Amino acid sequence: MAKDHKPIHLNGKASSQGIGIGAAWILKNIQVTVRPEKISDEEIKSHINKFHEAVSKLRFQFEQLQEMADKEASEIIDAQVQTLDDPELHRLIHQKVEEHNFGVEYAIFSTFNEYIQLMEASGASWLEERTIDIITIRDQLIEAVRNRRRNITVSEGDVVFAIDISPTVMIELSRVKIAGIVMQKGGQTSHAVILSQSLGIPCVIGVKWNHLNIPKGVPVLIDGENGDVVLWPDENEVADFKKRLASYRRSVADMQKSASMPHETGCGKPFAVRANVEFEEELPRIALHGAKGVGLLRTETILFRKRGLSVSDQEAFYSRVLKASGSEPVTIRLFDAGGDKLLDEEEEESNPFLGWRGIRLLLDKEELLRNQFEAILRVSGVNPGRVQILVPMVSAMEEVNRTKEILESVKSQLRENETSFDENIRFGIMVEVPAVALLAETFAQKVDFFSIGTNDLTQYTLAADRGNEKISGLFQPFHPAVWELIRLTIEGASAAGIPVAVCGEMASRPAAAACLMGMGITDLSMTTNAIPAVKELLCSSTLKEMEILAKKTTQAESTSEIQGLFSGFINQSS
Ligand code: PEP
Ligand code: MG
Repeated sequence: MAKDHKPIHLNGKASSQGIGIGAAWILKNIQVTVRPEKISDEEIKSHINKFHEAVSKLRFQFEQLQEMADKEASEIIDAQVQTLDDPELHRLIHQKVEEHNFGVEYAIFSTFNEYIQLMEASGASWLEERTIDIITIRDQLIEAVRNRRRNITVSEGDVVFAIDISPTVMIELSRVKIAGIVMQKGGQTSHAVILSQSLGIPCVIGVKWNHLNIPKGVPVLIDGENGDVVLWPDENEVADFKKRLASYRRSVADMQKSASMPHETGCGKPFAVRANVEFEEELPRIALHGAKGVGLLRTETILFRKRGLSVSDQEAFYSRVLKASGSEPVTIRLFDAGGDKLLDEEEEESNPFLGWRGIRLLLDKEELLRNQFEAILRVSGVNPGRVQILVPMVSAMEEVNRTKEILESVKSQLRENETSFDENIRFGIMVEVPAVALLAETFAQKVDFFSIGTNDLTQYTLAADRGNEKISGLFQPFHPAVWELIRLTIEGASAAGIPVAVCGEMASRPAAAACLMGMGITDLSMTTNAIPAVKELLCSSTLKEMEILAKKTTQAESTSEIQGLFSGFINQSS
């Protein structure tokens, strides 16, 4: 593509899916500098007028943007207008001009800066990410006072390189069909990222590009799925990206097909295929893949990021997951740290998977558990009937009883503070330790639902570490013993009248999902990528066929026999 320059490979955090092939376009940051100029008493009135004129001008620009915005962008612009009209900001700006005789530009500049410092000091990650919005409103206001407006001259097919992008600039950029966005800063929850996801623009953040002096127009490849950015690519790389683009387009077509398929078997039996979600950036995939909400929200990443652990930050995260799930339910699993997911302060254990993990750790760190309960309950108050609590790594009845006591105590505290929450919030446990499957009927008396974690259930049943390459051949989720424990779990649950879901990776294998359906489990949760294939098979099969498969599977003697049954089922259906 470019013979006179060697390729430069950059990498960052993949933030919005898609493949882009285009030409570089650099977004220059406007560096607004303002000196603390003093004005005379006679000038005060005209400076106050200039401020109000600038606010009106900017509001008009926002209104123009509103006309081309979709729902997501429109909410973001509303938030910008609210900041622009914030009475407290107006009062402080007036005060600086009228009482301290500062010129209007400096009054705006310093007032916004004080506000930004307060936001940064709060430590909340999402607030920090919003500072770019406030900085841009500050600079746009000052530019409006100066009667200037920046022109964005981006063209179709450009890949935009930016340090950071404010929502309004982002919306302006999206007027033309750009091929991608590469940002040096930006967080996963920044407006620029949210907007690029909703506009389907590939985006990679955290890329250090600024020192490279990239000329406008150089060829660029961007992969929003794994974070690759290539400048001056060679012919092989361009060919590779063309293949990636074709495969991405195919997967989008599959997703669209899956999203529109009903949650109903060929014979009309309803089922629910839900999403397993761990990272913020997975949220758009819930709707894209046509999942019925979230069957497993893994929350451990909050612990490992070390930020976002406060009740309000957790609440904000859970709310975003609920928002991304439309009106469907979300099952929030309590922190499942330990095992292979170590916290910094933990000492390494000689047998971590049999050690201090999941609910065992949480009951020893009660404050952490109470805070998580509080955040979940608060969110349930705003979304009644949609939030469920799931407890990981349960092995003993005492753990269930103690966890419920703590939950009740947090509920009482919220009632005392008159904080609303869903009084009927459902409380379930993971079935991932064989002891619970064996005593399913007893456990089922104490909880509202079961969710079977087949990843851990397999490793604990077969004594085969799920992460150890050397014995990966022994880690067989289709082993007859695992199916027998699933059968016992279903039997125990149905005797007590509670529902069972499966959220382990087994559910993501289409034939296994059909078998689970045949055994009576209609609630399956899996990684979003697996949803199209699973839905396709369930939609094209009848319950009778799946029941026959389940009967043969539960009578089989070996993993290979079961694998044979599953291959036969797939071949027969295709
Ligand atoms: C499981 O064990 O099957 C499960 C879903 O939980 P995790 O993979 O997070 O341990
Ligand atoms: Mg597990």
